Amino acid sequence: MLHCHRCNNTAPTEVRSMVTANNVRQWCYQCQLCGRRVGGFLAKRHPDVLALAEMIDFDKQFRAQQLRAHQQFLEEQNKQWWEWYANYLKSDNWRDKRQQVFRRSGGLCEDCGAPAMQVHHLSYEHVGDELLDELMAVCLDCHEQYHGARHAN
Ligand SMILES: [Zn+2]
Ligand SMILES: [Zn+2]
Ligand SMILES: [Zn+2]
Repeated sequence: MLHCHRCNNTAPTEVRSMVTANNVRQWCYQCQLCGRRVGGFLAKRHPDVLALAEMIDFDKQFRAQQLRAHQQFLEEQNKQWWEWYANYLKSDNWRDKRQQVFRRSGGLCEDCGAPAMQVHHLSYEHVGDELLDELMAVCLDCHEQYHGARHAN
């Protein structure tokens, strides 16, 4: 049995049949967890094809369903991240970090030298535990240029 590498090589796969665009019936493994086709098409005389007691069609609906569920999961995660981030921006930790950045810049925008109003993340890699050189003091105009719109981080 071939395992689905997208599901950590543990998910079981089953041989399924599908008719491809050029009207050829093919066989392949379908991951029973995520619904993906795993690997290429199988030869008609592949032992797993010959061993089939019945021909079962590749479940496209299952795949679509799993894709939707995955999408929802990502959206939920994303939403949670933004909620967490909004709270972080209100934290003492962030307030201290902002002060350190403003102190470093002498209260001036590190881009144009105007009075700094906000702190911009050059990288979101360590959000919550930023290194000071990942942050930059900016004025509102410069910050707008970085984000294309008004933003408070
Ligand atoms: Zn899978
Ligand atoms: Zn500026
Ligand atoms: Zn920013």
